[in-house]
Amino acid sequence: MRANVLVTACTLAMALSTPAFAQYDPPKPEAPKPDPIKTMVGRLELANYKATIKGLTQFGDRRQGTDRNRAAIDWIEAQLKSYGCTNTERIKYIFDDAPRKYTTPAPLPNTIASGEIRKNVGGSRMRGNVGPVSVNVDPEKQEDEALRKLNSQPAVNGPREEVFCTKIGSEHPEEMYIVGAHMDGHGWGEAADDDGSGTALVMELARVFSSPDIKTDRSIRFILWNNEETGLNGAKAYVEQRAALQGKESPPGSGKYPEPKWLGMIQHDMMMWDHGMPDADGKVSPEQRKEADVNIEFRMDNKLAEQAAKLAYFFRDANEKYATNYPAAVGHHMTNTDSDPFKELVPSISLRENERGMQIGAGWNPHYHQATDKFSSYSDKDFLLGLNAAQTTLGAVAELAGAKLKE
Ligand SMILES: [Zn+2]
Repeated sequence: MRANVLVTACTLAMALSTPAFAQYDPPKPEAPKPDPIKTMVGRLELANYKATIKGLTQFGDRRQGTDRNRAAIDWIEAQLKSYGCTNTERIKYIFDDAPRKYTTPAPLPNTIASGEIRKNVGGSRMRGNVGPVSVNVDPEKQEDEALRKLNSQPAVNGPREEVFCTKIGSEHPEEMYIVGAHMDGHGWGEAADDDGSGTALVMELARVFSSPDIKTDRSIRFILWNNEETGLNGAKAYVEQRAALQGKESPPGSGKYPEPKWLGMIQHDMMMWDHGMPDADGKVSPEQRKEADVNIEFRMDNKLAEQAAKLAYFFRDANEKYATNYPAAVGHHMTNTDSDPFKELVPSISLRENERGMQIGAGWNPHYHQATDKFSSYSDKDFLLGLNAAQTTLGAVAELAGAKLKE
């Protein structure tokens, strides 16, 4: 009994006399350095993205060949300069195509019961309910009188311009990624989604990458196409004028490359609305669908398909790493946007709210080319989908171009 007490006392004494051990402070593992690209992506803000879209809507539908379109280009250029993307330039070309005729197609019966598969643009196939898709040409559809007046000047053929600015790579100024969206619209609304949402995304990326504490190994060009809605004329003019200049130093020995070699082309067109398939009567839910995602498309049937697919999946990976709220999906029917004229020359992808052929082309967006494509038609969830596409592209392009934060 006495021995037991002694052992207990000794144990207690030992327990109390171990401060030498308690004082031992093992080295703490070094806190992991924050991923600099995550820091850059974190500089994108919903409020800025919304404000930039709102700023674009002051020029109504920004239809090509009008004063409101030219004023929008001037405003975009001033914004880019104010972000620090000061080396703005303009592409000049002549638009002289005959005006397109738009007709409203008869509504199609849904195909859920019949199982019919309808072919659509880009090699896509439409399934299920198919809603009406048309371009509004009726001013009376615009209920806002001031906006109707703002949009009233008709397009006139003639000289056209489009603006870009470039983040110059510090290691390889002779190579670049092209990040684009089209700034023109139509339909007597504000072209807020098509394509204010893509234009604002490109502008916000220009803002973040122009921060003086970010440098990139390779160059990034931020470009806002004109004349997309008339047949990709602005993007075609760019390819015609500049494809042959790629990678040439001018003047020789200057270290300047007016047209760096194209490494990838990333287009953004309609970034906000993902409310699902229409009902059998063509109506679409006013609420964003729970499965909303960013759709990244490449084009299967061309000679750079493999590299473009690789680029598309690289963007999906970037979405998984950097986007805060919405996932991304990859499809292979990229079509009807400004990446099209590039796709045989450089790996090209487009980012959208939905797939262009199978979904947008099947009437999934009731505001598409309509008088209702106005800032007020979208909720914060819709704007946030656009911001997540911005996070995706910023993260991907930062990795591809070798972006670093200066210490
Ligand atoms: Zn568009």
